[in-house]
Amino acid sequence: MQPEGPTQPLRDELLRTTRTVATKKSTNLPIVAACVAVIAVLFTADVLTPRGVTPTIGYCVVPLLAVQTGRRRFIVAMTGLCTVLTWVVHFLEPPGAPAWMSLVERSIVTGVLWLSFVLVWQRMNAQNELARQAQVLEDLNRELRRSNQELDAFASVASHDIRGPLATTGMLADLVASRLAGKTDQDCAQWLSLIQSEIQRMHSIVEKLLEYSRFDADRLGVVECECEAILATVLDGLKADLTANSAQVTHDPLPRVKGDPMQLAVLLQNLIGNAIKYRSDAQPKIHLSVAAEKDFWRFSVEDNGIGIDPSDAERIFRLFERGEGSKSTKGSGIGLATCKKIVELHGGRIWVESAQGRGSTFYFTIAHTYRLSSAISTAAKQGNEQTKSAAASSGGSLPR
Ligand code: ADP
Repeated sequence: MQPEGPTQPLRDELLRTTRTVATKKSTNLPIVAACVAVIAVLFTADVLTPRGVTPTIGYCVVPLLAVQTGRRRFIVAMTGLCTVLTWVVHFLEPPGAPAWMSLVERSIVTGVLWLSFVLVWQRMNAQNELARQAQVLEDLNRELRRSNQELDAFASVASHDIRGPLATTGMLADLVASRLAGKTDQDCAQWLSLIQSEIQRMHSIVEKLLEYSRFDADRLGVVECECEAILATVLDGLKADLTANSAQVTHDPLPRVKGDPMQLAVLLQNLIGNAIKYRSDAQPKIHLSVAAEKDFWRFSVEDNGIGIDPSDAERIFRLFERGEGSKSTKGSGIGLATCKKIVELHGGRIWVESAQGRGSTFYFTIAHTYRLSSAISTAAKQGNEQTKSAAASSGGSLPR
């Protein structure tokens, strides 16, 4: 259920390989010189030493050097040249051991030489494949970052532009309502009140959308934050809701984490707020726990609410998507998308485990060590998903 992306070590490794391959191609001349020098020295030594003693095993170094150029033809040519010279010297060297010994020796040298060629060739193919993948990943990341920025810019501009007319419409509706107070029939009063509440709803959607678009890696203020303090602030803000629903919130001792305290507060507020909003008939009981894993903290927010159909478990994290079982409760479908964005900006993941009528447990992870690049890559990935989701949603009406 958790989304997977290229891990940071893999990305780093791929980028390192690309750089290595690029550097190799630019340092051809010294490598060619080294190959020629090694061949010249070994050839001379081979010609001068009597039969039975051959230093040509040293030719195995040549493919290892030649591969540094990254040029296939050069590697084949150098290995071929070494093979030819190995056998030519059989006829040039001073007499010594019997001829069959020289033939055996030179056959062994040839075998080892071509074996090292095969190993070098395979390694070069693997490196090239890695470099190609690194390039594909880089292109993909660039594209994802761009589409993420586009979506955020669109959401921000659209929200700003809608705010003004919406405020005016709201004011006018209030004016009409106050003028007509007591002077109109019941139906008309009801319609007017419906218009006012719809304007309010629209206003809240626009505010949430603006908040959503404001969360990006550039504006992330990462510090050491006390989760206990963040939770206290969040609970203070939700006091009215908690009291009205007689909700009970308990929690494990919470750690210090590296993150943006404002964003983490929004995350907890959305999750706890939802746990109250989607309550069942029972008294809402919400428990926040945390477990320390090797590289990250795993938080969970558990409630005893109406629960979520498992088939909705992935969908609800997308912009404007709502669970099938909660359509009667008012909402915009932006809260969990915001949570996902925040968690991924912190290099973590978010998911839910639930069943209808059995409560829900939302899990999210926060990396022990904050890494900007991995946060950008996961957030960019999310941006692409959200672009698709927003594009799909733009064809329909806004959710209730
Ligand atoms: P909204 O609450 O405005 O609809 P969210 O993005 O916060 O938007 O939530 C998306 C959907 O996920 C909700 O419509 C609801 O179906 C489901 N959901 C979220 N939190 C809970 C919860 N704690 N219990 C049950 N359903 C939930």
